[in-house]
Parts: sequence; structure tokens; C-alpha cells
Amino acid sequence: MSENSAFTCRLCGHCCQGEGGIVLAEADIVRLCDHLRLSREELLARAVTTVCGKHRIKSRPDGYCLFFQEGTGCGVHPARPDICRAWPFFRGNLIDAISWEMAQDFCPGIAPDVPHAEFARQGLAYLREQGICRCSGPCDPAAAGSEGKCADKRREADTPEALVMNDTDADAMAKPAGTAPHAA
Ligand code: SF4
Ligand code: SF4
Repeated sequence: MSENSAFTCRLCGHCCQGEGGIVLAEADIVRLCDHLRLSREELLARAVTTVCGKHRIKSRPDGYCLFFQEGTGCGVHPARPDICRAWPFFRGNLIDAISWEMAQDFCPGIAPDVPHAEFARQGLAYLREQGICRCSGPCDPAAAGSEGKCADKRREADTPEALVMNDTDADAMAKPAGTAPHAA
């Protein structure tokens, strides 16, 4: 990421461990198949569990994602799912300084001495650079190009909620609810 003093991944793997496994959108499946040179059927059989119609990356017995590798991080980094690519710049952490502070307890890569407003600014720029910011409402004028068209893609049915911004989010990011220093 360019100009990213607000976040530097420490490869600790906290975000790669947890209940349920990462839910895959259709675009994630296509990208992983291409990266791993597997057919859709092969990927689903080897690395995915499907519950109630949702495809999730399998977890190892210790709870880590099947693709996590100790010391080096994500084993499919170039093709990792959008939700992994977006962390820690989830909508909640961008618009809510309290969520951002709580996220620091989970993710040591978030710089506590960078103000929340700067975290939000860098995060939104990163999401747009990566093409994973999804729009749900009227266009944010700040994201519109010279022709007045929003640069963000529209949300799809399987877009994770954490990646969806709407017209009120820009205001929330411009006026964060609080930027109290993070407790040591
Ligand atoms: S929790 Fe944060 S620092 Fe740790 S691997 Fe995930 S993104 Fe990187
Ligand atoms: S796909 Fe990669 S980044 Fe996402 S949870 Fe698995 S190991 Fe972590």
C-alpha cells in the first residue's frame, strides 16, 4: 500500500484465525481458482466448506485459515479474498473511532499514534486503489471523476457489508465521533 503510515501488517495471523472461516464471494472464488490453477470443483473440494449456500475457506484444527502460513502470512496473498484484502479498513473502523480503537487490540498493525481521521483517509484511498470499495447509495462527490461518475463499483448480492460505503459515510469520516488516544 502506498503512503500507509496508519497500518503495516505484522503477520501475526490474528485476523486469519476464528470461528467459521472466511466467506467467499463469487469473485474471490474465481481469483483463487486462477491463482491456484484449480478448477472450481477442485477448489471447493480441497479448500472450501459450504454451509447454507455460503462458501467458506476451511479452517485448520487450530482454528487458522487453511491458507495461513506461520511467519510468512497468507499463502494466497496475491489472490486473497476481498474481505481479507480490506482489513483493517472495514467500514465500521473507518466511520467509528471507537471501533478503530477496539480493532487496535486485535490487530497490532494498526498504528495507535496516527489519528483516526488519517486512518480513515488512508483506508478509503487504499480500498479505492484496490477497487474493493462498494457503493450502496448516492455517489460520494469526492469519489466522482471529472465526468461526475462515482469511481466505486456498486455493491453486489454477495458483497460483504464491511466493504459497503454510502453517502453518509463520507460525512462520518470527515467528523469522527472521537479520537481519544488508544489506551496502552
Ligand atoms: S491482525 Fe493485523 S497485523 Fe496481524 S496479520 Fe492481521 S492484518 Fe496483519
Ligand atoms: S485467505 Fe489469507 S488473509 Fe485471508 S484468512 Fe486466509 S490466510 Fe488470512
